[in-house]
Amino acid sequence: TQPLPEGLGSDFITGLHATLSGAADALGDLDRRAGDGDFGTNVRTAMKLATGNLEADAPTTYRQWVSAMSMAWLGVGGTSGPLFGMFFRDLAKAGEEGAVPTLAQLADALAAGQAVVQKYGEAEVGDKTMIDSLAPAIAALREAIEAGAEPAAALADAERAAVEAARATADSTARRGRASYVGEVSKGVIDPGAAAMALVIGAARAAVDG
Ligand code: ADP
Ligand code: MG
Ligand code: MG
Repeated sequence: TQPLPEGLGSDFITGLHATLSGAADALGDLDRRAGDGDFGTNVRTAMKLATGNLEADAPTTYRQWVSAMSMAWLGVGGTSGPLFGMFFRDLAKAGEEGAVPTLAQLADALAAGQAVVQKYGEAEVGDKTMIDSLAPAIAALREAIEAGAEPAAALADAERAAVEAARATADSTARRGRASYVGEVSKGVIDPGAAAMALVIGAARAAVDG
């Protein structure tokens, strides 16, 4: 498939860092209403660690940029810390070392990330987790690639699917993570992890869109 911009790693991670930092309070509110309330703190801690990693590592390649984000999440507690950490570790491995991945390689890496999150988190689609927005985003991306869409359009499809699916988590009951402890109380509240994952896909779209 078509090449992605040279600055993908830098634009993706810089943009995502800004987006997640800006959304931390709102994401924390969702976890307060439907979980144990620590997700906002976890996001803020991850972004603080990411800032430190980016300063220390001075990444130059896509893999280094995304690895800095992975290492940051791996340093955070909660369920989301290790799961996002492993997700970004697989996303960092997209394509060849030292090169920007193609769109198809990015889709494969997103799928590898989904698999590792499901391996350790044991969530299925519909359990009201980050998987709920990630799975349809990958499906939409693959469909767009198959149809020969331009990268920006394909990622826009993926983002739309992720946002729509994240919104739809309000209708489901949590079966994983701390939110599962409150059961039906989580009904009507968007899952913060699914919302955060939609922001990840959105940041990738923005990095390709220019
Ligand atoms: P915790 O639930 O341990 O307090 P966080 O508040 O850091 O963890 O993160 C909550 C988010 O993590 C949820 O919104 C959900 O999307 C995601 N999550 C929780 N458990 C799982 C799981 N087993 N698999 C996938 N995602 C999960
Ligand atoms: Mg929580
Ligand atoms: Mg917790």
